[in-house]
Amino acid sequence: MKKRIEELTKIINKANHDYYILENPSMSDKQYDDYLLELEKLEKEYPEFVLDNSPTKKINVNSNAPFSKVEHKTIMLSLANAFDFEQLVQFDNRVKKVVKPTYVCELKIDGLAVSIEYEKGILKRAATRGDGIIGEDITNNVKTIKTIPHTLKEKLDIEVRGEIFMSKNSFSKLNEERQKNGEALFANPRNAASGSVRQLDSSVTASRNLDCFIYHTTDETLSSHFESVNHLKKLGFKVNENIKLVNNIDQVINYINFWDEKRNDLDYETDGIVVKVDSKQQQEELGITAKSPKWAIAYKFKPVEEVTRILDIVFTVGRTGQVTPNAVLEPVRVDGSLVSRTTLHNEKNVLEKDIKIGDYAFVRKAGDVIPEIVKIIPEKRDGSEKEFNMIDKCPICGTKLEKTENESAHFCPNPNCDARKQEALIHFASRNAMNIDGMGEKIIELFYNMEILKNIEDFYLLEEKKEALIGLNGFGIKSIENILYSIEESKKLNLDKLIFALGIKHVGSKTAKILASEFKNLENLFNAKKEDLVAINEIGEKIADSVIDYFYQEKTKELITFLKSKSLNFDYLKKEIKDQRFSNKTFVITGTFDNYKREEIKDLIENFDGKVTNSVTKKTDVLLCGENPGSKLEEANKLGIEIWSSEDLEKNLK
Ligand code: NAD
Repeated sequence: MKKRIEELTKIINKANHDYYILENPSMSDKQYDDYLLELEKLEKEYPEFVLDNSPTKKINVNSNAPFSKVEHKTIMLSLANAFDFEQLVQFDNRVKKVVKPTYVCELKIDGLAVSIEYEKGILKRAATRGDGIIGEDITNNVKTIKTIPHTLKEKLDIEVRGEIFMSKNSFSKLNEERQKNGEALFANPRNAASGSVRQLDSSVTASRNLDCFIYHTTDETLSSHFESVNHLKKLGFKVNENIKLVNNIDQVINYINFWDEKRNDLDYETDGIVVKVDSKQQQEELGITAKSPKWAIAYKFKPVEEVTRILDIVFTVGRTGQVTPNAVLEPVRVDGSLVSRTTLHNEKNVLEKDIKIGDYAFVRKAGDVIPEIVKIIPEKRDGSEKEFNMIDKCPICGTKLEKTENESAHFCPNPNCDARKQEALIHFASRNAMNIDGMGEKIIELFYNMEILKNIEDFYLLEEKKEALIGLNGFGIKSIENILYSIEESKKLNLDKLIFALGIKHVGSKTAKILASEFKNLENLFNAKKEDLVAINEIGEKIADSVIDYFYQEKTKELITFLKSKSLNFDYLKKEIKDQRFSNKTFVITGTFDNYKREEIKDLIENFDGKVTNSVTKKTDVLLCGENPGSKLEEANKLGIEIWSSEDLEKNLK
């Protein structure tokens, strides 16, 4: 155990150095938090082995530049963490042993803490947290932040504290700029904010578009935290408007659930929720530890970044001919699901991120669904990594690839490339397109290779080949009939599904919906001129050109005539409610499902007049629960809400 404690102390101290001093984290926050938890546990069990330089004993220092030192008037603490609701409830129980609390919930802004002192309402000094006792003087840099007032509306002598951060938008722009100039990229907005505040040249800080939410004042005339935040706003500070006063821990959990869903919509990063006892008097009674107040806790959202290894880079060809490099990963669980492969988009992206085969990298779910490589960890290289080389011939048909100038992508220009044709068919039959049940990737590949299914028309000619199909590769009459039934059903689908299924370049399902609702009929879209298309708000030149090109082709004309002869629905139908069996029922969805995307489950519920909301409350009737559910399951259990699997939903739809 002694050895493990020594090892963990070393690992965490090194991570702190990389994170706080070099501003270049070498592990994910989750990994860091796990190590710290393990160390804390071991130190509790074996206090005799605790080392003097243990990271559990001190607030981490953020200092490598020659700023002058500032002694804080009162210690600037860190916060204790809760990683699940159980730990939150334990915190609540500890608090309730001493006082009867009302809580304030706030977003935990992912930036860096700042203390700002005002004398007679004039900004005098600003400092970083440092080790909590001594920070660094960053006054000149803080003065460049537009949302921090230099003069207050009242001539007060106060100290305020808050979080300096960089918006996601400014962060992307900054990294783009740095990319162009060949400078190192920041790993995340937090590191970017920290690096920007600690610049020796204030004009650099000024150019970084930093922002700041203030959440604390030392003004002792106010008796509650909530009141003091309101007062800060009146004085001219920017405060976070999502603050909420709640009565009990259940309401804290509701707040967490709400923001866990919504945080992606914010233009700044939040890594959790801070819960504080509202009454200052009660805060006094509860007191502090060496590192954090006992009257507050930070609930950390489940991390979205993990570290794994890139085992290989392989190429795939999409239906438009785009050749995409993909990273094959050592399987890693990211935010609940196992990730073993991720797209690397194109050559430019691989080169920009300096990705080599064998590298370790941070992986996260972009927009919460698609995994992506955030950045590699150069410190973990041992020289065995292999350079990435973009291919110049299609890996399937061998045609020389073409490179688009502005899209920085490689394309296989061969319209008859087998990969392109198969992908187009897979897309056509997919659930969000024509939803042909039973026609997954494998079957399409098989039928394609057997020359039964070579183009879209062939789906609607399968009926004629029914007899020949039975017995093929173990197909029974039932499975063939099921496929034919879904093909027949696909003819009735709404126009947007058909437009999307055609696979027109740049026309995703959202654009397809817009086109369908604007043109009302496929023939109208077929006859549309470019000016009709660009007149639509959401349609730009690129999409318009692509639609015109597509419908101009002789092959498309033949396809449309054929589909009409097979009686496919060409009209836009307003969303119809099939029946009202779910009217007055409110659903919440959590986790992932084998057979459905979330959007599909939502559609299914809405087709039967049900309502889908984001967070579990007393008004929720059913929680639809998939694999790896989030905290919503806990919450639903607590509130005694009915829980359904996707199979239960299917049963209720029969
Ligand atoms: P913390 O981030 O866990 O919480 C304390 C901080 O939250 C405060 O100092 C304050 O700056 C901030 N905060 C934001 N919004 C707030 C609000 N509304 N009210 C009060 N405070 C608010 O503590 P920390 O010591 O700053 O950082 C520790 C964390 O940093 C770790 O848990 C880990 O996730 C991360 N870390 C990662 C690595 C790594 O290698 N990846 C290394 C070191 C630390």
